[in-house]
This record gives sequence, C-alpha cells and structure tokens, in this order.
Amino acid sequence: MNSEESAHQILRSVFGYEHFRGDQEAVIERVAAGGDALVLMPTGGGKSLCYQIPALLRPGVGIVVSPLIALMQDQVSALQLQGVRATAINSSVPMDEARQREEGMRQGRYDLVYVAPERLMTERFLNVLERTELALFAIDEAHCVSQWGHDFRPEYIQLAALKERFPTPPRIALTATADAPTRQEIIDRLGLGSAPVFCSSFDRPNIRYRVLPKNSARQQLLRFIREEHPQDSGIVYCLSRKRVEETAASLDSSGCSALPYHAGLPAELRERHQQRFLQEEKVVIVATIAFGMGIDKPDVRFVAHLDMPKSLEAYYQETGRAGRDGLPADAWMTYGIADVVMLRQLMADSQAEERIRRIEGHKLEAMLGYCETTQCRRQVLLGYFGEERAETCGNCDTCLTPVETWDGTEAARKAMSCVYRTGQRFGVNYLIDVLQGKANERITRFGHDRASTFGIGRDIDSARWRSVYRQLVAAGLLTVEMAGHGGLQLTEKSRPVLRGEQPVHFRKDPEKTARLRSRSGAAAPGIDLQDEDAKALWDALRALRRTLAQEHEVPPYVIFHDATLQEIVRYRPRSGAELMQMSGIGQTKLDRYGDAILEVLKQHEADRGRPEDLPPLADAATSRAPVPVDTGVSDTVAATLALAKQGKLPDEIAAHRGLKSTTIYSHLAKAIEAGDLDLTEVVDLPEVEIRTIEAAFHELDPESPFTLKPVFDALGERYSYGMLRCVRAGMIVRGDFEAGRESG
Ligand SMILES: [Zn+2]
Repeated sequence: MNSEESAHQILRSVFGYEHFRGDQEAVIERVAAGGDALVLMPTGGGKSLCYQIPALLRPGVGIVVSPLIALMQDQVSALQLQGVRATAINSSVPMDEARQREEGMRQGRYDLVYVAPERLMTERFLNVLERTELALFAIDEAHCVSQWGHDFRPEYIQLAALKERFPTPPRIALTATADAPTRQEIIDRLGLGSAPVFCSSFDRPNIRYRVLPKNSARQQLLRFIREEHPQDSGIVYCLSRKRVEETAASLDSSGCSALPYHAGLPAELRERHQQRFLQEEKVVIVATIAFGMGIDKPDVRFVAHLDMPKSLEAYYQETGRAGRDGLPADAWMTYGIADVVMLRQLMADSQAEERIRRIEGHKLEAMLGYCETTQCRRQVLLGYFGEERAETCGNCDTCLTPVETWDGTEAARKAMSCVYRTGQRFGVNYLIDVLQGKANERITRFGHDRASTFGIGRDIDSARWRSVYRQLVAAGLLTVEMAGHGGLQLTEKSRPVLRGEQPVHFRKDPEKTARLRSRSGAAAPGIDLQDEDAKALWDALRALRRTLAQEHEVPPYVIFHDATLQEIVRYRPRSGAELMQMSGIGQTKLDRYGDAILEVLKQHEADRGRPEDLPPLADAATSRAPVPVDTGVSDTVAATLALAKQGKLPDEIAAHRGLKSTTIYSHLAKAIEAGDLDLTEVVDLPEVEIRTIEAAFHELDPESPFTLKPVFDALGERYSYGMLRCVRAGMIVRGDFEAGRESG
C-alpha cells in the first residue's frame, strides 16, 4: 500500500466509508505514528479499522493476534475482497501452506497477517518475525488476558513478552468488554502502562433491551421469534447442553430453522451448524456460551437468553452480537427465580479461591439488579461499565413501558414468615401452596395445613407470589439453601422486614408479555416492506449478493452489509461514481461488483420505473450515518427531527417511532436548542400562551431556569413538561438566559 496515502483516503478508497467514527481517527493517528494504545470500543463500533488502517499506512506487515479461527477467516476474506493483502496463519492451514505464508510475510507480500496467540509465541514464528519488517502488533479481544474474565486464555499472558523482543513496532490492544478492573489487568499484563486509553461509549443504541418474567420460556421465545423475527437470523443462549438440545428441537418442530451448538456435539457437526448460520439468511442458532466469540456476522437481528448469564459482562458481550451492522436489533431475555437459584448453586459449588468467589458474587448481584430494575436498562448497563448517562434511552422495555411498583411490605412479611414456619427447607412452589391454603398430600404429611401461615395469602395469585419470592431472593432478603434442594431460608437482612420495620417495594411484572411495537418489516430493517417497489429491489439485490457469496465461498455479509443494500434501495445510484457514495463500497468492491449491481438496478428500473421521491444523492455521503450507525443520542434526535420536518406532531412522532412522547419532546427541545428547528414547528400554541409560559420561566427563577417543576405547577399543570422544555429551548437559543446552559 502506498505510504503517502492519508488515513482518510484509505478509509474512503479501501473501506468505502466517508467519515471516521468516535475515537477511530485519534487512535489511527497515534498508532500510525508508532505509539501504543489501548482501545475500548463496543462491538460494531469499528474497532478493526483502528489497526487495519495504521497497518496499511506504516511500512511492513501488521500482525493481528486473534483468539478464534473462524473470526480470522472472516476478517481475512473481507479484507481480501476489499483488495487488502491479508492472510491468516493458524492450525487450520496445512503446514506447507503456512510455511509459504510465513515466507511471503517475510518478503513483504502482506499488509496484514492474522495469527493465533499460541502460534505467535512459538520460538519458530518469533524467529521469522525477527527477519520481517513489522508495522505493528494488534492484540484483539485483549480481555482474554484477564484471569477473572469469562474468556480467559492462558496464551494471552505470554503476549507480555512481545515488548521485550520487539521494542519498536507499536502495540495496540483492543476489546469490546472491559469494566475497570479488567481494564487495569489488561494494562498491567500487557505492559501498556504508558499507553493512552481510548474509551468509546459502550452504548449500542440500536439494540433494544428487554427482560421478561419467565413463565414458559420456550413458548415465550417462539412467540417472540414468530411475531418479531420470522425472517431473521438470531442466537438463543441457554446455560446447559440439555436445554440447548431441547430448545432447538422445539423451535425446529414449530417451523423455525434452529440448530443446536454446544461443546458436546462432534466438531464437524458444530462446524456445519456454524457455517449454515453464517451462510444462510434466517437460521437461529441455539447455543451454550461456547458459541459466538468468533462470530462476526453483522446481521444477527436478535440475541435471546433463556437463562440468565453469570455477569453483566457476559450479558453485554453476548447481546452485543446482535445488530453489528447498526440496524435495529433485540436483546431479549426471560428470567425467573430458577435462574437465581441455579446460578447461586453454581457459585456455591465453585472451587475458586475466596477472593474470586467474592468477585463472582458481586457480579451476580449486579446481574440481578439489572433484571429487577425499574429504571432504564441502558442506564443500568452503562453505569456498570462506569458510564453515567443522564437521559433515559427510549429503547428498552422499562422506557417503553414504564414499570409500576407496589407496596409489598405486607406480602413480604407473609412470604417470609411462611418460609420460617415451614422450617426453611422448602422451595417456592411448596411455599406458595401453603400461602394459598392448598391442602395437598405433601402439605398434610408435613402438617403445614396447621401452620399459622396456611392460607394467609389467598388474596394474591400464584404468579404474583412467584414474583414476590423472586424479588426477595434477588434483593438478598431471602437466600437459597445451597447444600440441599434449593429451599429458601431467611438471612440477617430478613428480620426488619419480618417485623414490619422496613417497607418493601416490588416491581409489578407486566401482566402479558406484550409485544412492544412492530418495526417496519423484520426481514429488511429500514426498508418499508409495504412498499412493493423497494421490497422487490431489496430481494433482487439480496439474490445477487447470495450468488456472489457462493461464487467467492464467503458469507453474504462479507460481500455487502444489509446497510449497504439499504442505501442502494434508498438512493438508486446509476453510475459507478454514485455507487461509490454508498457506505461500504470502496474502489475494489466497485471494480468487482459495481457492474452487477448497476445491472440489477437498470433491470429493476426498466421493469418498474424510477420512484419520484428519491432523496438527492448528494445527501448520501453527508447525511447518512457513517460506518453503519452513529452512536449516541444524536441519531435518535435526528430521526425525530426528520419526522418533525415532515410536519408530524410530537404525539404522531411518538406513535410512529414507538417512543414515549416525553422522549420525543426532549429530542425536539434539543433540536430547537441546536437551531435545527423552530419552536413554532413543534408547539401548536397561540403566541399569547407561549409568551405566558416564557414569562413564567423568567419570573420564577431567572437565574436557573433548569427546573421545570415550578413552572409546571405555576401554570396549573396545563402544559406538559415536554412542551415546557421546548419553550425553554426556544428561549435558550434566543439567549434569554444568562446563566450557564445545560439540557435536562
Ligand atoms: Zn431505556
């Protein structure tokens, strides 16, 4: 590659993107100049460009350490299709071929070589490297160095020795999961003490988080897939092999093409299932956590958990496999008391040393807290990774359907005293039967039909009691007997509640696991399937992509991401130059596939004509979200803004986007404050009323106009908070307030 090219030119000509995202540019600049770096970036955040571009900019070959072969293969194929000289050296490559690649590397025939850590650290390979010009070392999935993490790979520890042996080439370590302790461990173990840490937001705004109380998990899952993702690829995680098998079989018999994947299956079968998942367009893989780390499939539209993961890191990493292309995706989980019991037991059986068990315990508590939260789930999740976020997200279940709470002080007392009166050795079902006064054989045998708590809970149904017990255990107010059969026991925290000295509030579980809202066409997110013309073109482009993928023996997404095809449907480019403006199409892809795509477009236009309301193409490069999606709030604000500009009222936008109208109003207020929107385009009020509201802001607290409540009250609750927020934004943009700005 020509070393005089700039990073930006490479981004455009090789990778087909117009803009860098987040920290990418700063990282590339640093590494290209020879400096080390630690990069924390969410999955789908464009991590790999951070080392790929410097490797192309610097003389010599970039060595990329990657733990899984499948992942390497994918990345290498994708790079080759983009015209980059890349290869992989790992155990799947025959020895002769591996030797040839090593020799090619030494002679400078490659820009990037992917290698497994155990291979890299062999004396043989290190010797070859000593005779090779090296551009950099990239250590991907760097959290594998963490002994406390769930992906610990002992070979990663040895990577620390690279620095001594090769002091000159820069080292860049990258990961998509790292809480503060793991981050420190990476720095310590890899000797990156003096390297700057580039920490991007961990938010994945396109993923919608949802946690449902479990009643019949498989039925719930089936309904979810049928209603929301009938045409999509997805991953379902279960904790045990047995559940994987059963779940895959049950989905399969219900007409979903579902395949099991776990470490107990023969290697060839696993490989075949993984390949089908990668190559085909609507396969659901049901897996234990053994699956997924090497999976770089960008169009996974949902990740479902039938069992609760052990920690929020694991949850975040697993759900992070959804929607890497930046298009809407779901993280869906069912959760019940059995999950808590099972995980607590796993932990009790753990042979790990005390210190590690304590850490595992904390991680479980955080996971439980996430499941039971009544707050925005994204706030909880990001908070765990040290990211404070003032705004609720509008794209999780608790935001979309706010959770009610109820005073459970009395119910908690009854539930706990039933535990006590029956001897602290029974499980939830038994306890609920006693509370509800069901004199079955077992209860009579133990004499609990004569217990003082027998029948004192008839006023509450079993589902609610189950929810009560689950929440008491999650809160540590009850514990699970580990040695025996999972009976519930009191803890030292139980007493004040039993005595009625401490009030307890429970979350009200939703009655029905209602579907939140439908998205426009599950098969083609972002494309209106009602629009027959768009749908036909989308299908034709996907068919072309399938053919090309088969020809090149790569998964379809390696040829083009869905996002690229979507842009083509949207803008209908008519020439090579116009195609180059689509994200994800660089020079090499244009040369290889440009004619075929233009042919499909031409044919489509001949058959159906060209729609009149196409957006102008010049917008494509400037207005589209760079590398598939931008992070953060700005995108969602932009979406709201676009609808407002079409003349939609806030409530209509809320309905259209499936968001709360308060959220829409806060988007609109931001747009007003940014000068993108005029107050009159949002608020349909007579001038005089707007003046009245403004006067109220001035009168009540001209120094600090940032609490809305006094104004809301003073105006007799006549105007919603959202409306007040917009009026205030109008005042801010006019400079009515002297005081410091803040939004909120
Ligand atoms: Zn939220």
